[in-house]
Amino acid sequence: MPNISRRRLIKTLAAGSTSLMFSPNSLLAATRPKKTKLGIALVGLGYYSTDLLGPALQQTKHCYLAGIVTGTPGKAVAWKQKYNIPEKNIYNYENFDQVANNPDIDVIYVVLPPSMHREYTIRAANAGKHVFCEKPMAMTPDECLAMIDACKKNKRSLAIGYRLHHEPHTIEYRRIVNKKLLGKVTKLNCAAGYRDNRTNHWKQTKALGGGVLYDMGVYAIQGARLGTGMEPLEIVSATTSTTRPEIYKDGLDETTIARLRFPGDVMADIKTSFGENVNFLDIDCEKGSINMAPYSGYSGLKGKSPLGEIRFPYELPWQQAKQMDDDCMSIMQNKAMLVPGEEGLRDIRIVEAIYKSANSGKSVKLNTVSDTH
Ligand code: NAD
Repeated sequence: MPNISRRRLIKTLAAGSTSLMFSPNSLLAATRPKKTKLGIALVGLGYYSTDLLGPALQQTKHCYLAGIVTGTPGKAVAWKQKYNIPEKNIYNYENFDQVANNPDIDVIYVVLPPSMHREYTIRAANAGKHVFCEKPMAMTPDECLAMIDACKKNKRSLAIGYRLHHEPHTIEYRRIVNKKLLGKVTKLNCAAGYRDNRTNHWKQTKALGGGVLYDMGVYAIQGARLGTGMEPLEIVSATTSTTRPEIYKDGLDETTIARLRFPGDVMADIKTSFGENVNFLDIDCEKGSINMAPYSGYSGLKGKSPLGEIRFPYELPWQQAKQMDDDCMSIMQNKAMLVPGEEGLRDIRIVEAIYKSANSGKSVKLNTVSDTH
């Protein structure tokens, strides 16, 4: 909602226009003077907010930590002291919607268990705020579509927290693939996993968004999609398994493997696991292979190809700072998000198809044509 003048806005509101497609809050926000730095509020102060996003927001140039939303009063006190957050910018899950009246906060960053992403993204958009939402975007394609719709309706931006799209190693292997510098991709193999020894975290609780395919599997799916530069046509086969049935029960997957067929009959084998540390992406091309290992961590990424070494060292939490700076710059410049909701939706459609294939023992065709209903 970029260049609407205050006079035109008042006229529209006074006319009681029934054609308003977005909330009054987003209209009012659009009339305020342009900011040079956006205020971000983190929702959910668990591991990722505490260890990565909070520290990253001390390094960002185009945004800063303006507020927090937490259900734990003790965390509110600790974060307030550590980061000097004003009391008026601290919310809990009940009074969260009042953020609509807070001009300090431009962006809500949803860092909650996946089952809560839909609700908090929609509440944030309806409060007139831009939204960054962590991966996996949501539990089902319908939830993703509802989130995309809510942001569109309110004319707010929606970005998914796929930090690797902003990251130089990923940008470099994508450049080699997309420019066909080693010819066409012929085959791909990707694995994303770590040993998770927790027993009752949300990652081990189906209703909260648990299961390895949602959590780490989206990295392997991203590896396959970005590494081939194509969209999969079919899940040829998939298997879910566990070596710890006392933890991974009720259909929860500890390990999932799948074969994805891409255009040109290019096959990608992916593996994701909470049982072992695995982190690599091998892209076979006509004139040689790109081998990235690790390909998806927070730092220390590296790889090689016949074109040379792929190595751009940086310290943590540079990735997260870069991602938030990029996305805030895009918002301030009225540009599309580098990783919009539609990108998260693509992966959740694939997640759904992989589970369907694993449960039925059959191949599952993917409909890649539409990002809408
Ligand atoms: P976490 O369990 O450490 O934190 C979750 C937070 O949600 C906690 O503060 C918890 O109190 C809060 N919460 C509110 N209601 C809850 C409920 N009903 N059940 C459980 N927790 C509840 O998880 P995390 O590792 O910080 O992950 C949060 C999100 O960030 C997830 O979507 C995860 O996939 C994502 N994440 C992304 C990356 C990345 O590299 N992009 C890395 C880690 C996590």
